[in-house]
Amino acid sequence: MTNRVVQGRMVTAERLAELIEGEPPMEADGIEDADRQCPDCDGDVLAVAYMPSVTELVTGYKCQDCDWADDDR
Ligand SMILES: [Zn+2]
Repeated sequence: MTNRVVQGRMVTAERLAELIEGEPPMEADGIEDADRQCPDCDGDVLAVAYMPSVTELVTGYKCQDCDWADDDR
């Protein structure tokens, strides 16, 4: 699992999902580069697939430079 820098801090996939979701996920896959730019600051956006609960699998997006985050729900 690759750690990435988000807002100046190294984060794991689990921690990235937690930043997006507001609470730790049950499970998270590896971090990937999303093919999009942040709408707020034009920064690079990371993507991570995670399970907020046993029945849900969502892809979350988080800007590497600011607080912007989204998911595909
Ligand atoms: Zn941003």
